[in-house]
Amino acid sequence: MILNDLKLPPGYSERDLLQLIKKKMRPSKEPVRSVEILKKSIDARKKPEVRVVLSVLVNEPHPLKQKCVPEPVFSEAEAPMKESFRTAVVGSGPAGLFAAIKLLRSGVSVTLYERGDALEERIPAVDRFFETGDLDPESNVQFGEGGAGTFSDGKLNTGTHHGLNADVFRLFYEFGAPEDVLYDAKPHVGTDVLIGIVKRMREEILSFGGLIRFRSKLTDVERVNEGVRLTINGTETEQYRFLILSVGHSARDTFEMLQRRGFTLEQKPFAVGVRVEHLQENISRNQYGDAWEQLPPASYKLTGKGTEERGVYSFCMCPGGYVVNASSEPGRLTVNGMSYRNRDGVNANSAIVVQVRPEDFPDGDPLSGVRFQRALEEKAYRAGGGKIPVQRFQDFVLGKKSVSFGKIRPETKGAFSFGDLNEVFPDYLSESLKTAIPTFGKSIPGFDDPDILLSAVESRTSSPVRIVRNASGEAAGFPGVYPAGEGAGYAGGIVSSAADGLRSAGEIIEKIRSLIHG
Ligand SMILES: Cc1cc2nc3c(=O)[nH]c(=O)nc-3n(C[C@H](O)[C@H](O)[C@H](O)COP(=O)(O)OP(=O)(O)OC[C@H]3O[C@@H](n4cnc5c(N)ncnc54)[C@H](O)[C@@H]3O)c2cc1C
Repeated sequence: MILNDLKLPPGYSERDLLQLIKKKMRPSKEPVRSVEILKKSIDARKKPEVRVVLSVLVNEPHPLKQKCVPEPVFSEAEAPMKESFRTAVVGSGPAGLFAAIKLLRSGVSVTLYERGDALEERIPAVDRFFETGDLDPESNVQFGEGGAGTFSDGKLNTGTHHGLNADVFRLFYEFGAPEDVLYDAKPHVGTDVLIGIVKRMREEILSFGGLIRFRSKLTDVERVNEGVRLTINGTETEQYRFLILSVGHSARDTFEMLQRRGFTLEQKPFAVGVRVEHLQENISRNQYGDAWEQLPPASYKLTGKGTEERGVYSFCMCPGGYVVNASSEPGRLTVNGMSYRNRDGVNANSAIVVQVRPEDFPDGDPLSGVRFQRALEEKAYRAGGGKIPVQRFQDFVLGKKSVSFGKIRPETKGAFSFGDLNEVFPDYLSESLKTAIPTFGKSIPGFDDPDILLSAVESRTSSPVRIVRNASGEAAGFPGVYPAGEGAGYAGGIVSSAADGLRSAGEIIEKIRSLIHG
């Protein structure tokens, strides 16, 4: 039995919940043997009357706690055919990992190639970068086992828990994500928990006979009669029947190679801007009123307008988190946000970004958006002297470098220094930010406080390029090649990228079935 709209005060006890369930079940006298939470959200519209709102399932198992067990593709008699359908997956981010697990559980043999390191080497490389600025262009916050998502906030935001998204949540839960990701309105894992999940997924892949090759960069792809020939690290070649290209939004050299090889690429709009930091307590007080201490750190979602009617909005908000130096190329600096499971940092941060359009790019070339990003990242690198450039909002408006901090100090992963962010952005972007942020102060008092901190540049909100694919998900003109995830330009964020990976795996499984059974 499902019971909806159960309203409870913050800090409610199990006993409070049980009593409310029994009251809602009346006149039924059925004993309550189990309670599964299906949905949980916080309703703070009538402060100070803040309520936790639940939907629960009584005496039935949670639908997302069931293990994903796909049908095997090959019967025993067909097993010898497996080798002729060998599949390569390039990129071990959410798209690649979820695709590899689905294919292997269905009996398809998979080799996973990852240009970066396994976590055991990647984590120290990233820590060294945060401490010393010594960047490894192949193993960093963007590249390496688990992909860009590993050093993230691990927000599993998605509009729906249906279809492939449901499978994504099932797999996250199966590999160790906390139960509340299955029902929280704003599910969140945290980078510390994500690392464990990625390791368990690696073990699962190996346990099914999957091969994982780290420090193995795809440097070339050629069509061959039945499938593709891959070149790894410029030297080694290997042939596969199918290929899932799940390289993420920062694989710029790979996009260039694909363009040279005749893949159809197209420009894609995205957004760029700054990371903004506030005191988390101020955000929580504002969002929840006096009840703030009994509730998890609050988040916000803001949208507004900049100059030229450009959309300006908050993106990837990290309560109790850190601003991260998420760079992957020497001499270029990009920021992002992350937090740990308990989100206990003193600052709240989010990206405040402005829409950019193909007409803003230098030219019509499909990779022009990449050049646009690179130009901003070079300016950010210079503005901060190689460190994260930080500026008080008031000084940004006045166009002068800050010399001291006010109420808020930066909470960063990676060194920071004072810089004038007006040097980073073309006028239409900095003016859009100066126009929109004060309007956000109307929704959240103090959002535009002179002391709030801005850092730059948030340039990789999504992929600036799309690898065009046909109705069956294959790259146009490259049968058997399936671009997937954020880098393909059809997904954004952890959940939709993982779901896109599952979709590509599903396409390959159907293709094999049709080839076997005609
Ligand atoms: C700091 C940070 C915080 C984030 N926070 C969140 C969040 O809280 N919630 C959310 O939903 N999203 C978040 N994101 C975005 C999210 O991480 C991505 O949307 C998601 O990881 C995309 O998944 P993907 O598998 O498509 O690509 P990626 O995760 O980018 O993985 C691609 C992989 O391919 C590898 N690769 C690239 N080129 C090659 C090649 N030529 N050969 C071999 N391997 C290659 C890369 O090394 C990488 O490991 C965050 C991103 C960052 C950087």
